[in-house]
Amino acid sequence: MGLGSGARVAVAGAGAIGSAVALTLAQSGLQVTVFDAAAPGDNASGVAAGMLAPASEAVFDPPSADHIELLRAARDLWPAFAAGFGLPLHRDGVLINGDSAWLQEVEARFIALRLPVRRMTPGGPLFSDEDWRIDPRPALAMMREASERLGVLYVPAAVAGFEAGVLRLADGDKQPFDALVLATGAARARSGLAPELALLSPIKGQILRAATGPRDGPVIRGQGVYICPGPRPAIGATMEDGRNDRDIDPSKTAPLKAAAARLWPRLADTPMSIEVGVRAATADGLPLVGWSVAEGMLLAVGARRNGWLLAPLVARLATAYLTDANPGPYAALLDARRFAGPGGG
Ligand SMILES: Cc1cc2nc3c(=O)[nH]c(=O)nc-3n(C[C@H](O)[C@H](O)[C@H](O)COP(=O)(O)OP(=O)(O)OC[C@H]3O[C@@H](n4cnc5c(N)ncnc54)[C@H](O)[C@@H]3O)c2cc1C
Repeated sequence: MGLGSGARVAVAGAGAIGSAVALTLAQSGLQVTVFDAAAPGDNASGVAAGMLAPASEAVFDPPSADHIELLRAARDLWPAFAAGFGLPLHRDGVLINGDSAWLQEVEARFIALRLPVRRMTPGGPLFSDEDWRIDPRPALAMMREASERLGVLYVPAAVAGFEAGVLRLADGDKQPFDALVLATGAARARSGLAPELALLSPIKGQILRAATGPRDGPVIRGQGVYICPGPRPAIGATMEDGRNDRDIDPSKTAPLKAAAARLWPRLADTPMSIEVGVRAATADGLPLVGWSVAEGMLLAVGARRNGWLLAPLVARLATAYLTDANPGPYAALLDARRFAGPGGG
């Protein structure tokens, strides 16, 4: 299904993925409308730390270890992508500190994965320049502004279905579109939306935002914690499998705060707030990107803990599918139908 310039595409979801898809589609000359009933940034994307961290993800997150090439390729799309809407990209790397046995283990994992790493001092903290970061909330706002300048409409409404070229909104309104991109994050199967959404499971994430702490420089990682610099440094994050609620539970974030204070002692006395987002994950940890079995619907969901890192790559793939261009070398790995049984069931 290749759509010509000027075709009308609906995007459900205004998180990192939906916003990146909308901007990239608009840059390719399609007429795009983004639907989302939530307030801007009130989603996993707005809560996220904003790390673009192929190295740390491969080293610290087992499902990512096999996908270092894909994660790096996604990161390498960021300079051009961010420049396209004026977003500053922080390329300060990652500093890793902890006890010497653990640092040795981490160093060995970097080396096994052929990732560059060095000691800051003999036997001291590790540093790798592989990981970058962005500030998520400004990124969402700036993608939206750039999209709107290209004629993209943002509509505060939820999508309830798409059949035979007609988009149905939760309030009953119906509008004609040539295709629907589902970038609905952790929202699962809803009547009328794609059956593949049932493959997603939620992972709740609680993250601390500190009133003071490192505002710039590298992301700092320790045992079971990271400190991501910024105007309100992020300290994260919990991974609560199977949880789809956004309830705040300070008992889950207390160990993060204690671990962060070991890395950056002044954080022990710094006021912190807790934010909660829900990630969506597939069984292999990679997103679903490509055509659904439901006609006219393209999936762009399930980016787990790397939605920001992967956003430009997912957007590029979605645009290729919709315009009938070559989706490139990572299409098969992310194919939305890869979990279907023999015969496409
Ligand atoms: C604590 C935490 C820290 C994280 N840190 C990082 C990080 O440092 N780096 C990184 O790369 N990733 C990180 N992630 C992961 C990242 O946030 C997610 O992978 C990413 O935000 C997913 O983006 P998304 O657009 O798919 O989903 P979301 O941001 O959840 O957006 C989905 C949107 O779809 C809307 N929606 C749902 N249903 C409908 C419907 N029917 N119609 C219309 N709209 C609908 C929702 O309202 C929502 O706004 C983190 C996640 C968490 C929770």
